[in-house]
Amino acid sequence: MRYRVSMPEPHGHLFHVELSVPRPGEALTVGLPVWTPGSYLVREYARHLEELTAADVAGRPLPVERLDKHRFRIEARGAEEVVLRYRVYAHELTVRTCHLDGTHGYFNGAALLLYAEGREREEHRLEVVPPDGWRVATALAPSPGGRDPFDGAEAGRGGRWLFTARDYDELVDAPVEVGTHALLRFEAGGRPHALALWGRAAGGLDPARLAGDAARIVEHFARLMGGLPYRRFLFIVHLHPSARGGLEHAASTTLLVKRGGFFPRDAYEDTLALFAHEFFHVWNVKGLRPAALVPYDYRREQYTRLLWWFEGVTSYCDELTVVRTGLGAPKRYLEHLGEELTSLARQPGARKMSLEDASLTAWVKYYRPDENSSNSAVSYYQKGELVALLLDLALRRAGCSLDELLRALVEQHAARGLPEDGVERAVAARLGAEAARELFDRYVRGTAPLELDLAQLGLTVRRRRAQGWDDKGGAPPKPDERPAPGWLGAALPDGPKLKVASVREGGPAWRAGLYADDEIVAEDGLRVDRAALWNRLCERGPGGALRLTVFRREELVEVEVPLAEPPEDTLWIEPVADATEAQRASFQAWCGAPFPTRSA
Ligand SMILES: [Zn+2]
Repeated sequence: MRYRVSMPEPHGHLFHVELSVPRPGEALTVGLPVWTPGSYLVREYARHLEELTAADVAGRPLPVERLDKHRFRIEARGAEEVVLRYRVYAHELTVRTCHLDGTHGYFNGAALLLYAEGREREEHRLEVVPPDGWRVATALAPSPGGRDPFDGAEAGRGGRWLFTARDYDELVDAPVEVGTHALLRFEAGGRPHALALWGRAAGGLDPARLAGDAARIVEHFARLMGGLPYRRFLFIVHLHPSARGGLEHAASTTLLVKRGGFFPRDAYEDTLALFAHEFFHVWNVKGLRPAALVPYDYRREQYTRLLWWFEGVTSYCDELTVVRTGLGAPKRYLEHLGEELTSLARQPGARKMSLEDASLTAWVKYYRPDENSSNSAVSYYQKGELVALLLDLALRRAGCSLDELLRALVEQHAARGLPEDGVERAVAARLGAEAARELFDRYVRGTAPLELDLAQLGLTVRRRRAQGWDDKGGAPPKPDERPAPGWLGAALPDGPKLKVASVREGGPAWRAGLYADDEIVAEDGLRVDRAALWNRLCERGPGGALRLTVFRREELVEVEVPLAEPPEDTLWIEPVADATEAQRASFQAWCGAPFPTRSA
């Protein structure tokens, strides 16, 4: 299989692809994946595919029949080779799609490169033909005679960008960046690494420091996991005005980082946590993959109950790594955990949906969030992270740790995939079958409220009521002279309009008939903004009421909401006042930093 990807008119956002398939036999079926591993949503990449034609080597057209939404059958009639030509529209800037414009081209193989049915295990070659002045970055191995993206801009000028993949899986597991990106190279763990950086930062970006910090994260995991399982690794970084995200691959990752993700320090540490997250997936979901996803089936959904493990544990390790590498202070990490606890406490869906259910339904729930998500579902990232912490603490009490468990799972199951009961069996081997079953029954298969006992670390979880629309928890209460607010039970994000984003099931707004998408314009006949409305909540207090005027489907509607006692659903974590030596030592063994003083 030989692919040639060119982009002669980048402003049209069209990648041109030529695929040559040798010895196609009488007929050949090709298809474009409907999803890409790591992102559990049927994205129907074929919706952007246009003008597919087929010919033999002499250029004689061959008949093409569309079989279904994503596959085509070509009458090859015993031709020596079939050459397919098609284009793919690429104007969606996310880590799992394709994007092409006057500044760069980026593609995920699954969204661009057709597979030839039955030939997926054969060697696949890729040639990328960039416009003049652009260069290519990918983790794919250069073919003999091809240019090496890791050589940087200066070396190896001229020549073709030719790459070889062992099979289709490896081909589409290596995204490709094409353009005038900055390329930063560094060594870590004895292996070459590169960072391809596209887009402008809003300030505070020091590329050399970023590469140095990425190297520290790589070194940390190399030590933790006993070596690096790849020959070289590429970080592709796209700077975006508002979005944050990443997609993991075996020898590379694409990171969508906010332009503002480099300043101030908190924002930068959040960016480093994203680096750590996607990088740690090299082991947890790539090296160690759910057996249910072996081999990948690009034609349909694949189901596993283990996404909570792969995303929850990775989320737990990302922020913790920022502290363990000395790149962030434990104070911010404890704030982060407090925010996660707060968010979970405010989700009625956490009482309805288990982590296993959340994993299985990712395709229709997690990846398709709506205004009812917090009432009906739980995030396997967020609750998974907290259950990973709970599990780590239980393992530490038993003289092991989550780190040790991860190494053991990778060693035991990397070759054939992690069976659905693999995590529980490994936990049972360390904590005993009964303790493991109880823990999984409560928190993984069940929906019991999370009881996080942090005493062994010298920490305690505290609760209070929210102090404003944007109070995400994680910190102790601030001084506030106003009386306790009455509780509305609706989320009102900051924005040009005062729009209800969601209504908490069972809360005052839910009972009174305030709906998601209602636009609040007045209270008691007077125009209000967010700040004024919070003041009204404080002034009326629990037992009082709001008389809201809202636009609903462009119609003015009055809704009176009796206010309730605010729930203590805002949590933060605090060091205990008189931590023992044992608690201090456990804290340091856990996160690598000294025990924080209470005021810190
Ligand atoms: Zn992840």
